[in-house]
Amino acid sequence: MRIGVIGAGQLGQMLGFAAQELGDDCRFLDPSSNPPAGAAGEVVTAAFDDLRALGELAASCDVLTYEFENVPVDPLRQIAGQVPVYPPVAALHHAQDRLLEKRLFSELDIPVADYRPVDSRADLEAAVAAIGLPLVLKTRRLGYDGKGQLVIRQQSDIDSAWNSLGDTPLIAEAWVDFDFEVSAIGAREPSGEMVIYPLTQNQHADGILRVSRAPVENVGLSELAAAHLGRLLERLDYVGVAALEFFVADNALTANELAPRVHNSGHWTIEGTITSQFSNHVRAITGRRLGSPAARGHAIMINLIGDIPAAARVLAMGHLHDYGKAPRVGRKLGHVTAVAESATSRDLLGEELLTTLGLTGLLSGAKK
Ligand code: AMP
Repeated sequence: MRIGVIGAGQLGQMLGFAAQELGDDCRFLDPSSNPPAGAAGEVVTAAFDDLRALGELAASCDVLTYEFENVPVDPLRQIAGQVPVYPPVAALHHAQDRLLEKRLFSELDIPVADYRPVDSRADLEAAVAAIGLPLVLKTRRLGYDGKGQLVIRQQSDIDSAWNSLGDTPLIAEAWVDFDFEVSAIGAREPSGEMVIYPLTQNQHADGILRVSRAPVENVGLSELAAAHLGRLLERLDYVGVAALEFFVADNALTANELAPRVHNSGHWTIEGTITSQFSNHVRAITGRRLGSPAARGHAIMINLIGDIPAAARVLAMGHLHDYGKAPRVGRKLGHVTAVAESATSRDLLGEELLTTLGLTGLLSGAKK
């Protein structure tokens, strides 16, 4: 089959490689020149809302998907009449707006931090009074990797927060003093069959994912997170892979956000499970049966941000994925995954890898 993919970043690249293994091929649409997915298929250079280019992509493919969540929804809705678009546009619509997303979570009894929509300075003051401080002020739309958000710690922060974000619809969220962060990743077939991967623990610094480890050895949390994700996938009549991110405090989950796509915190599944998230996404959207999400051991995934250390190319105990991007501060250029037999040996190996890669500072500023 031929799969049209909107976006041609590293997620597209890894989707393209997985499609090749299954005998399918991907055609990507992206405005940038030389995007990473060019290594895994043909790239059509056009804007994401270029209706003519989208129409041509739809006409030349059996199914369309996307690899990032800021794809404009309206052009996609128009194309959805021509060719199946998976995950469904309704999932994208909810995931693009933090307010709709939180309302959906609440409707499905998925716990969220206390929140208020903020459309005016008066709303912000009312939100501070209702939620208390600290709180996080986020743009409802187009935020990623910690961009478009600010923490308000004291009353005197309100002015500067409003001045920098106040020109766009916002949401104020209670600050969650979490112990750690996890993500549940799952895939759903059109028939409703689902698989959920072992729960992944994630460490962020400055809003960017640095390290993921899986499986989380906590059956209660894993089952609860899987149940929340399962309800969400069913409600959205979802097809493909999705990730649901949570904060964990006192062994309780608070949902943060839904990514209606393959996810950075699932990169470990390439070497660490029987069937990777990329393969299962391709399987789901092409109408194949899903593969087993079972772990092959205990995995660690380390993001390579800003540059790829030379040592990453000669690792004895880790797999490098180089996305082929030009180095730039703060840019995700690749990742390394290693798999060990136990959580303890995985964590020791992780320490060794961080030292070998010269990344012992990678987790400074990150919670455990
Ligand atoms: P987001 O863009 O919502 O995924 O946020 C990026 C990161 O900022 C999260 O992974 C957390 O580390 C942190 N963060 C976001 N929202 C909150 C919150 N309400 N309380 C505490 N930390 C947060």
